[in-house]
Amino acid sequence: MSLERTLAIVKPDAVAAGQAGRILALIEERGFRILGLGLTRLRTEQAQGFYAVHRERPFFDGLVRFMTEGPVIVAVLEAEDAVKKWRDTMGATNPAHAAEGTIRKRFAQSIERNAVHGSDSIENARIEVGFFFSAADLI
Ligand code: ATP
Ligand code: MG
Repeated sequence: MSLERTLAIVKPDAVAAGQAGRILALIEERGFRILGLGLTRLRTEQAQGFYAVHRERPFFDGLVRFMTEGPVIVAVLEAEDAVKKWRDTMGATNPAHAAEGTIRKRFAQSIERNAVHGSDSIENARIEVGFFFSAADLI
């Protein structure tokens, strides 16, 4: 095990539904340390860049529209094995397949409007944290 950082986003659906506070509480309860936190609204080019790996997918334009429709909360989380631990806490991409007790099981509406984002590797976490935070911002 090693101390890692990962990037979490509370997506526009969950912020609009007033679920951000409950999701942040859960993050704290599960033992993550919050090193950086912000409220922002993604511009189209930012969302396209953030999800660039998916640009050939049929759902890409819808995903970009969704991610830019309203404010999001971005957070840098630190914990032992933070990348996997946060992915486990979020649950499966499709809430229909998400395990009991996961954030997506509880809050996600669909495979697209699924409440939260999490980095999928240590390398991507480093890139994604850099997308929103400079080293000097992190506590
Ligand atoms: P994220 O990257 O947001 O943490 P993920 O890693 O679980 O989610 P990805 O495969 O990276 O899933 O997909 C990125 C996002 O694109 C999903 O979280 C979801 O919002 C959207 N998405 C993925 N698959 C579909 C699909 N089949 N139809 C519509 N939207 C989708
Ligand atoms: Mg992903």
